[in-house]
Amino acid sequence: MKGVFVQKPFDLQIVDREEPEIQNPNEVKLKVLWGSICGSDIGIYTGKNRLATYPRIIGHEFGGIVVAVGSGVRGVRVGDHAAVDPVRSCGRCYACTSGHPNVCSSLEVVGVHRDGGFCEYVVAPEDTIYPVDTEKIPVEFLCLIEPYSIGAEVNSRANVTGGDRLLVMGSGPIGLSVMQIAKARGAVVMMTDLIDARLDRAVDMGADVTVNTGRTDLAEAVWNATDGEGMPVIVDTICTGWSFEQAIALACPAGRVVTLGTGGQTSSIAQVDITKKELTIVGSRLSNRRFPEVIRLMEQGKLNPEKMRTSVYPLTRAKEALTRVMEHPDTECKVAICFSY
Ligand code: MN
Repeated sequence: MKGVFVQKPFDLQIVDREEPEIQNPNEVKLKVLWGSICGSDIGIYTGKNRLATYPRIIGHEFGGIVVAVGSGVRGVRVGDHAAVDPVRSCGRCYACTSGHPNVCSSLEVVGVHRDGGFCEYVVAPEDTIYPVDTEKIPVEFLCLIEPYSIGAEVNSRANVTGGDRLLVMGSGPIGLSVMQIAKARGAVVMMTDLIDARLDRAVDMGADVTVNTGRTDLAEAVWNATDGEGMPVIVDTICTGWSFEQAIALACPAGRVVTLGTGGQTSSIAQVDITKKELTIVGSRLSNRRFPEVIRLMEQGKLNPEKMRTSVYPLTRAKEALTRVMEHPDTECKVAICFSY
């Protein structure tokens, strides 16, 4: 079978690999039909993903059709279309046993720490397979369930409910997914970016207010929008030392701040800035089994996967697809890989 193989940074090839086979009774084998490219795939390609190991078949956003099931599989059948949760956890550590398998102490992510989904066949445990009704969700959008699950995790970590007000810093794919899930939950969302085209896309997908932080002072925009109170929920998808400082400063008393960064840049924050407002600061990583929420919202037409996906490339042109994402942050959002042409 063909796969997108990164031997080492900047060395990406389409290689022939042996097809994986079911080895345990709980496993399911899928023929991958669609994948989409994430910033972390780019990071593996360019050597900037601090968590990745090489060589690697990349891809953690993918879905396909079930072609075989192990003897113990009950909830998935051959012929089902499904999305695959890339999180693999031990089930025994503190994080796993307290309901946070997405931060398992021996966590592995398919496509980052072990071989991923950008290949023609994948074998995965049944509890990571989410069958989808393709009458309601077109097959081509199966791969977008995972990126939306990142937004669902953020909303869940910040406990976003109807009437909540959010500031989402950054209008890339993650910011847009956070915003759409928040809108589906009934929240009001302000979004920022430096690129107008990305803000236009955010509005097209449902953002209530946008701020181009290259032209407008964000603090002023937040004070004006909240009568000087600050924002109840702030999600930092920019993930620099400075953006985190800004998030803490712009949160209202009793507000919640969500971090998503994996970089090593530090911030300078005094404890009083957190204590005085009794802020809740939470990290959000991957997704804690949020696929069902995303699938339900997608089925209800409350998300805009057709607007998230901006280009499609065949598997054989995967390298061009990655380059496209890197070189066109203004016009591209999610670039998909189609395995069937
Ligand atoms: Mn991703």
